[in-house]
Amino acid sequence: MQIYKVGGAVRDRLLGKPVTDIDWVVVGATAEEMLAKGFRPVGADFPVFLHPKSGEEYALARTERKSGRGYGGFTFHASPEVTLEEDLIRRDLTINAMAEDDQQNLTDPYHGQRDLDDRILRHVSPAFAEDPLRVLRVARFAARYAELGFKVAHETLELMRQLSESGELEALTAERSWKEISRALMESQPQVFIQVLRDCGALKVLMPEIDALFGVPQPEVHHPEIDSGIHTLSVLEQAALHQQPLTVRWACLLHDLGKGLTPEEEWPRHIAHEHKGLKLIKAVNERFKAPKDCQELALLVGQYHTHGHRALELKASTLLELLQSFDVYRRPQRFEEFIVACEMDARGRKGLEQRSYPQADYLRGAASAARGVAVQPLLERGFKGPELGEALKRERLKALKAYKESASS
Ligand code: ATP
Ligand code: MG
Repeated sequence: MQIYKVGGAVRDRLLGKPVTDIDWVVVGATAEEMLAKGFRPVGADFPVFLHPKSGEEYALARTERKSGRGYGGFTFHASPEVTLEEDLIRRDLTINAMAEDDQQNLTDPYHGQRDLDDRILRHVSPAFAEDPLRVLRVARFAARYAELGFKVAHETLELMRQLSESGELEALTAERSWKEISRALMESQPQVFIQVLRDCGALKVLMPEIDALFGVPQPEVHHPEIDSGIHTLSVLEQAALHQQPLTVRWACLLHDLGKGLTPEEEWPRHIAHEHKGLKLIKAVNERFKAPKDCQELALLVGQYHTHGHRALELKASTLLELLQSFDVYRRPQRFEEFIVACEMDARGRKGLEQRSYPQADYLRGAASAARGVAVQPLLERGFKGPELGEALKRERLKALKAYKESASS
């Protein structure tokens, strides 16, 4: 049997990037031989094994044929006769379809190295269209390598467009989609992921709520970029520039969905878009089964981001309601994520990327003032049950009034 490094490990070494996980392909072997060498099978009918020591993935060279809709609809054929070239041709992009032996000799039948040099993301063969997940993968690689100048090839974008129009994207499971989306959002330029999906018509299918923001104007005084879709991309860009976690990036992406529902007669204003957007945010959350912390933060940021921007003008009682809504006493981290999401929203506007955002520290101060109210003295005064809750609220309100006064003096 011959063993080769494939996929990301080869690509990233040639790009001079750190290689984290290595995928291997094994040519000329049977499953029985792998088991005899101590490899552990990954799944019952999948010709992939884990190395007994390193735990890395070793896949038998295989060919694939599409046999139905979605990813379940594939039949694999793995046998010792399948060649390296046959295995590589079923891969998504030419830059992912190179192999390397232990002497670093490159096998590159589909010209991945040339495309690496030219900074092009190009599909390997027309079989690309057999797995709709590849639309998301290409967009994710575009987001990752945008900083190196990579672009999607015209003919690949065309195939992605055909796939998006074919209805195949709807067959993707929430789990597979979310895995790509969440990884793409954590790349260095996640806004490119959304842009590429939009360019090929996939955004309209996967997240029509975001697609609908493009072409919707906002008031120029607050939004020099005007377009709500462009604003959303910029907010996401800021979140990545400031290395925010996935929860914040997800919330940034969804914060303004309500603007897509504003009747044209009301443009460029978007009265109550925060509230109107909630059902859309919920729908997107559920469509991709986003993790609970992402779902929660997206809804809270959607509902309260304008409160964040107006923080300095809010009455003490409104500040208190805001803090209560976030349960800042038990979930301080979540409120901090809200604050930074608001800051990204404020900076994701043309020409305002460097603006200061005093609201952030003001909100932090308010949170610590409210959190500083001790329960013990109230217990000692005999409060319990709902009365204790009310007393606590009164004390917090007092603390916030004092905080507001000290902050404005
Ligand atoms: P990463 O750095 O994100 O791990 P990778 O290229 O190694 O990038 P993997 O998901 O680990 O990506 O997959 C390993 C290889 O398997 C890819 O390089 C590609 O050749 C192939 N591959 C994975 N998923 C698909 C797919 N859905 N369609 C076609 N080829 C795929
Ligand atoms: Mg990999």
